[in-house]
Amino acid sequence: MLLRGVGVSAGTVIGPVVRMTSPAPLPAPRAVTDPAAEVASARHGVAELAADLAARAEHLSGEARDILESLAMIAEDPLLAEDIERRIVGGTDAPHALTEAFDAQADLLRADGGYLAERAADLDDLRDRAVAIVLGRPIPGIPDPGHPFVLVAADLAPADTANLNPDQVLAIVTERGGPTSHTAILARGLGIPAVVAVAGVTAVGDGSVVAVDGAAGTVALGVDPAPAGSVPRARAQANLADLGPCRTQDGHPVSLYLNIGSVKDVRSGAQGVGLLRTEFLFLGRKETPSVAEQRAAYLELFNAFPGTRVVIRTLDAGADKPLPFLALPAEENPALGVRGLRTARLRPEVLDDQLAAIASAAAAASCEVWTMAPMVATPNEAAEFAAQARAHGLEHVGAMIEIPAAALRAARLLEHLDFLSIGTNDLGQYTMAADRQDGRLPDLLDPWQPALLELIALAAEAGGAAGKPVGVCGEAAADPRLAPVLVGLGVTSLSMAAAAVSAVHAALSARTLTQCRDLAAKARDAVDPAAAREAVAEMSRS
Ligand code: PEP
Ligand code: MG
Repeated sequence: MLLRGVGVSAGTVIGPVVRMTSPAPLPAPRAVTDPAAEVASARHGVAELAADLAARAEHLSGEARDILESLAMIAEDPLLAEDIERRIVGGTDAPHALTEAFDAQADLLRADGGYLAERAADLDDLRDRAVAIVLGRPIPGIPDPGHPFVLVAADLAPADTANLNPDQVLAIVTERGGPTSHTAILARGLGIPAVVAVAGVTAVGDGSVVAVDGAAGTVALGVDPAPAGSVPRARAQANLADLGPCRTQDGHPVSLYLNIGSVKDVRSGAQGVGLLRTEFLFLGRKETPSVAEQRAAYLELFNAFPGTRVVIRTLDAGADKPLPFLALPAEENPALGVRGLRTARLRPEVLDDQLAAIASAAAAASCEVWTMAPMVATPNEAAEFAAQARAHGLEHVGAMIEIPAAALRAARLLEHLDFLSIGTNDLGQYTMAADRQDGRLPDLLDPWQPALLELIALAAEAGGAAGKPVGVCGEAAADPRLAPVLVGLGVTSLSMAAAAVSAVHAALSARTLTQCRDLAAKARDAVDPAAAREAVAEMSRS
């Protein structure tokens, strides 16, 4: 049997399914007939929880280890144990006593506000784990079966994805999720094959062996296990230094940069970085990173690309990239709410500190640092951001084009900026009014949509007229068939995951700039993405 979804990270693997577990729902309360047994059961739950945390901490170091050790201490807090027992003696069964006691602690922290309030979510997590142990259900969270596996989940948060171990997680398959969701982007960066929007996949049992094809977007059930040690796997192994600078066949230069979000994405020999997603460095963080900590993190990445250009983007928090330390209020429509640059309206000091950290790291760096803001909508926002960044001494200041309004007014934005970078993931989402996390809408989110190409052309033409660079750093840049079209539309650089560089390099080297322009004209003129693809394929054949 073959399940179909949307392939978002190429590669084929065969492996056993392990499902990500959701917190167990609480059964109805029971009458307590044997309080001593009930207390023993609750104590066992808490002790197992603490032992599990301590055991996992042993394999870690640094901050991750500190966090797990401090959670183990919270679980073993004698006051918490007393509260649980008091509730059981008062007639509450063990799962409900645990729940109420953990919730009471979390409420106290939330009432304190600030940093302590941010720790309340940790207690919610501990509560769910302890209750699962007492109920004899699987512990919720990313599974750790001790062998390589295909991770199956209803959905996966970017923070969970960023922390996956690519040596253990052979592939990711989710029931929800869209082609340009951040989970998909992170999976590509980690070189983990991934398929999203696979209806019914969470019903596949743990241990069933499946074959995942991340390019075709399929999951085959009931396959024979792969012989040990022979799991085929596409990993980001591009030998970038061998490729050299990219030019079209007639010598027109097109810079090919990397999209990175952590040291795991660093590759030697790259031409530079076109998008450093700084929010990926701090996903899930509950405390605001200090200027010193940010400076150190940025400088480490800057110095991994000596002599090149590194484009760093200020925090793009909100929507599917929550940064708990920003403490943003919940929203009805997060993708249309306070995200990206807009978070500076609520927390201006966070942007200011970040710019200070970038400027300080840039001054010490061995590369040229360019700084841009995400989700800029108006020329005024561009002007304000540019003034603030320049006040910190930053020299190359730009903005992402992710909102149709910004593409339409790109020339006005460029009056204040040195460069633009087109984020086709969001520009596609907002142009087509189609949620990028919704796997049911891949046709609307298709980067070949002529309407999206028109907006890219507008921004690129504005750059051409102003003599300023306009790149693409959305996932569209990684498509080797689309790359010549983007260059033909006037884009001056393309930025992508390392795995995509060699195919894009080859596609551009095989065409002249005039051919790229002809392809772009055909694609722009097409009635829909399929016609655009076909027109480009046909011209490429002739
Ligand atoms: C984009 O929107 O295309 C982009 C590059 O930004 P992100 O994917 O991080 O939203
Ligand atoms: Mg974006």
